[in-house]
Amino acid sequence: MDGSARLEDDVTDDARARALAEARAAETPMMRQYWEVKADAGGALLFFRMGDFYELFFDDAVKAAAALDIALTKRGKHRGGEVSMCGVPFHSYEGYLARLIRKGFKVAICEQTEDPAEAKKRGAKSVVARAVVRRVTPGTLTEDTLLEARAFNHLAVLSVSGATAAIAWADLSTGDLFVRETSAVGFAADLAEIAPSELVLADRVEADPEWVSVLQGTGAALTPLPAQRFDAGGAERVLKETFAVASLDGFGAFSKSEIAALGALVDYAVLTQVEARPAFKAPRKAEAGRFMAIDAATRASLELTRTREGARAGSLLAAVDRTVTGAGARALSARIAAPLTDVPAIARRLDAVERLVADSSLRETLRESLKSVPDAARALSRLALGRGGPRDLAAIGLAAARAGEMADGLAAAGRATPLGAELEGAAARLAPGGAVDDLAAEIARAISDSAPLLARDGGFIADGYDADLDAARRLSEYARKVIAEMQASLAEETGVKALKIKHNNVLGYFIEVSAAHGKALTEPPHDQRFIHRQTMANAMRFTTPELSELAGRIVRARDEALGRELALFEDIRARVLAAREAIAALADALAEIDCAAGLAAYADEWRCVRPVVETGLAFDIREGRHPVVEQALEGGARFAPNDCVLSSGDDARLKLVTGPNMAGKSTYLRQNALIAVLAQAGSFVPAKSARLGVVDRLFSRVGAADDLARGRSTFMVEMIETAAILNQAGPSSLVVLDEIGRGTATFDGLSIAWASLEHLHDTNKCRGLFATHYHELTQLSERLARLDNVSMRVREWKGDIVFLHEVADGPADRSYGVAVARLAGVPPKVVKRAAAVLKDLEADSAGGGALPLFSAGLAEPAAAAPEPSETEIRLARLDVDGLSPREALNVLYELKSLTESGE
Ligand code: ATP
Repeated sequence: MDGSARLEDDVTDDARARALAEARAAETPMMRQYWEVKADAGGALLFFRMGDFYELFFDDAVKAAAALDIALTKRGKHRGGEVSMCGVPFHSYEGYLARLIRKGFKVAICEQTEDPAEAKKRGAKSVVARAVVRRVTPGTLTEDTLLEARAFNHLAVLSVSGATAAIAWADLSTGDLFVRETSAVGFAADLAEIAPSELVLADRVEADPEWVSVLQGTGAALTPLPAQRFDAGGAERVLKETFAVASLDGFGAFSKSEIAALGALVDYAVLTQVEARPAFKAPRKAEAGRFMAIDAATRASLELTRTREGARAGSLLAAVDRTVTGAGARALSARIAAPLTDVPAIARRLDAVERLVADSSLRETLRESLKSVPDAARALSRLALGRGGPRDLAAIGLAAARAGEMADGLAAAGRATPLGAELEGAAARLAPGGAVDDLAAEIARAISDSAPLLARDGGFIADGYDADLDAARRLSEYARKVIAEMQASLAEETGVKALKIKHNNVLGYFIEVSAAHGKALTEPPHDQRFIHRQTMANAMRFTTPELSELAGRIVRARDEALGRELALFEDIRARVLAAREAIAALADALAEIDCAAGLAAYADEWRCVRPVVETGLAFDIREGRHPVVEQALEGGARFAPNDCVLSSGDDARLKLVTGPNMAGKSTYLRQNALIAVLAQAGSFVPAKSARLGVVDRLFSRVGAADDLARGRSTFMVEMIETAAILNQAGPSSLVVLDEIGRGTATFDGLSIAWASLEHLHDTNKCRGLFATHYHELTQLSERLARLDNVSMRVREWKGDIVFLHEVADGPADRSYGVAVARLAGVPPKVVKRAAAVLKDLEADSAGGGALPLFSAGLAEPAAAAPEPSETEIRLARLDVDGLSPREALNVLYELKSLTESGE
């Protein structure tokens, strides 16, 4: 492609100029070649192939040796200084490569691109030609050893032109390609959904003040490229070439920035893969409106696909994932990351899950078959990139064969009870028939069961598949027999019983005798026949004209066999690539079935129900449960289910949730948001029943979450996030706010929470849940028509509190914070003191005074002072002069009863 050469020039401008200067100054041809290749590496570490090693030199060596913890050595001189060097073995380089990529390096791989024999023809001193054959970056990995089987590896490209922007993303390991419009405001949400491992963007965007803060903390490796790479005109040409179409209209209506983003992505993929062409599927437009909008903070707060710490375990995804293949797990993660808003599409997914919940025998048969289905999508992508091996062919053959069996099973089940559109569509793609069937049968015959990973050493074509190959193999078999016979007759002839015919890579076949027997062969009568090759410490090596001749035949036979195997490999690979659309569709169908069957298995295991998802504003969940917390409860603890009825139709309501700490407020809030996510992702939900009008935007916030990495104070973050909700939530949104306003002084926080709640009620008019410790807010329900109070029930028992985790109508009577402190093991002395302080605070604030934290009576007692009793405290606070005789008498009674109760 013409674009790639230009891109190489652009990318590497600085590094390239420096490297070319070094090349000019180089004193040896090898060094000159190194620097010329380095100029092509675009600032990446250069893995320079020399024999059985990839060597790194100069700064690259210093960085790689430190990152990999391998020895740094010196070799020769360049411009008077010593050359640093380190190397990794070619046969096991992937592990090193993976470590470097994980540490954020990019690596350019340089191979020998001609046979050393060819180089020799140019003169004894000429250097073997070398060139960069691949640039390995975090977003362009394709090898199973470098990838996580159950996770995507997204490469994203941001293109900004004037006021418009678009993000395109792809998984090079499967060829999926998407694009949507974005903006500086919405970009963080897009990134949180896509979670790319590498983000490519124009260098001027990286420096643009509007984007700078958005790009911080993306978690992706940033790859800036020169701005001209994002030119829409050039991009359109690149795309038309890639997809071999005259117009892109067939794929959908793309905006200019979307085309620029897609074009830059394809171009970057080509730049990194050099000669190879990734097998992209047709680009798909992932319009924002088709999916529930979930911003980055909401994703983090609800821990949809990762926990806050970045782990998969503990997330919603992990709780519901029962898929058995990597591709199925990836499909499920895409569904959870981007729940749908289209009611019929959601219903189709739910139909599939329902059908597989109802028919557990069909489900388990499918899941059993899926367990042995290899990752065909990734195998196909490697084959397209010229990086695939025999096992990838076998993977495709096996996947197609299994898919055919599953299609038969589904068809049989469908004759008894209809499968529904989703499963029927998948079943049709599982058995495309024709070329794919033939191909699967061919692969099964051609590739031996124990096929090696790489094609280059041969030995993967099954015996009996190809007559020419069998003949070549028979010849080398036969030659081996002849060698054994030759060894026996030479031993007999020479009288050296221990004479052996051996083989190594340097000498080929040779005759070996111990040093002591060497004489027998170097003296008459044998000296004419045996030609000396090598003398070792303990042995001598020879050859004979017959052995050389035979060895030549063996090598020719082996070369012929290998050549034949490689030709057959290429042949089948070409047929696979010719059928790649059908194979990719088949792989997608397998993933969809795994996803639906996995969700059905989850529904069955955790007694989930099919939600009713409809248009309108309903939100009626009965006996809902938290999908993650209920699975994490230990020791036989039972999760207490709770209703959440925010609206039964067209009336969006808010619920204000009060109750003690640890009573389950956060769990209740989140479980309702998670149920909405699951329902719109097309999953059954943990509840007795659920009916909800489609949620277009979901917001979830926890007050006082830190974001120190981005240098914002806790409270500032809380307010930025609250602002986003108050500005964006609409009537179809669901808002979940957990203790907003807690990160500042009490009255400020209370006022902000108060005003926010009013705004949600009057202006946003959304469905929402608002948990708070500010009891004052409960009074708001008297004024706000669509606000209800609910609270978490607790029971007091022998002075302790017992959490019932039940949501009841009406506000909480008090907060029980001190009781929770006692439960948590706070020293009794502190608990007692806190109880006393609380009592006074409550009395004072009931009287309308300011919070009397520093009033004399409440001053902290001296550390050494004995703990004051209730009676002593009461006495100390007594204003004797201000008492009427009757009050004095009452105080006396009170003090007496206090002493009697031991206080
Ligand atoms: P805080 O105000 O301190 O944040 P909270 O009221 O939000 O507390 P949660 O964090 O939701 O309380 O819940 C505390 C613990 O109670 C949970 O980790 C879980 O173990 C348990 N829990 C919560 N809800 C339920 C439930 N419905 N059934 C059983 N256990 C529950």
